[in-house]
Amino acid sequence: MMQLFMPLNFLGFVYREIRGALANIERMFEILRRQPAVVEQEKPLSTLISKGEISFKNVDFQYDSRAILNQVSLSVPAGSKVAVVGDSGAGKSTLIKLLYRFYDVDNGTITIDGVNINELSLDALRRAIAIVPQDTVLFNRSIYDNILYGQPGASEQEVKEAAELAHLTGFIESLPDKWQTMVGERGLKLSGGEKQRVSIARAILKQAPILVFDEATSSLDSRSEKAILSAIKVAEQGHTSLVVAHRLSTIVDADMIVVLSAGKVVEQGTHDALLSQAGLYARLWSIQNES
Ligand code: ADP
Ligand code: MG
Repeated sequence: MMQLFMPLNFLGFVYREIRGALANIERMFEILRRQPAVVEQEKPLSTLISKGEISFKNVDFQYDSRAILNQVSLSVPAGSKVAVVGDSGAGKSTLIKLLYRFYDVDNGTITIDGVNINELSLDALRRAIAIVPQDTVLFNRSIYDNILYGQPGASEQEVKEAAELAHLTGFIESLPDKWQTMVGERGLKLSGGEKQRVSIARAILKQAPILVFDEATSSLDSRSEKAILSAIKVAEQGHTSLVVAHRLSTIVDADMIVVLSAGKVVEQGTHDALLSQAGLYARLWSIQNES
């Protein structure tokens, strides 16, 4: 089951790329061909990651010989929350793909609890990370099964607790068949905010030491944003979290904010420190708060 589950966990990224490439069939085949790009080393470590301290050191990465990340260094101390912000196309989602070893870095290293991720088995690596992707893929199954997918061995009580923490219980109880309501393309279509909360419930259920959140760009109404914010807060407790944020209101409380621009780290600091620097972060902040 784990063997099947781990690669599936990454479907969100693949789906997004393929959808983005649909206009170009050749690109789609290229992406499909490229999926098994990473290989485990001969004797991969099955180290159990417990703290979840993350470190990127001088990471370079290119797609099709186009530089996407350039000498990126950042660290996420165990138990802390680090946010990555920057314009669309800056390379934020790419950072996450590298952490999950969807691709390998070209130069530099990524370590978790001091172990180079290239030395870990893919299973050990991916078991350590729960991702809330930009696009949540729902399967044509019940909403219950869709949450269970976060940790296929979980008990009913655990699934319901995770749903509760992700602020989904009221919504689910209001559905025609409650927990057994079919969702996905052939079932009930959920809104962006509801899908995101399903994703958060899956992440809570997985209980991985590292939580990665790649925030959706689609604007949510302020009620679902509030519900999501408080769900994220719960999910983050006791975990190391790396949050990619388009909406800065979600990361004001981060221990550290890393500002990425065209693949480079251009600023780093807390919200208050960055505002007083009056640089790119301060500009992004004022754009988002004028209305
Ligand atoms: P962000 O998440 O900050 O919006 P991404 O990390 O998704 O940015 O993308 C960074 C850059 O890499 C963009 O210019 C994007 O077009 C490019 N890119 C992303 N995915 C691919 C891919 N699979 N192949 C080629 N270029 C890509
Ligand atoms: Mg992105």
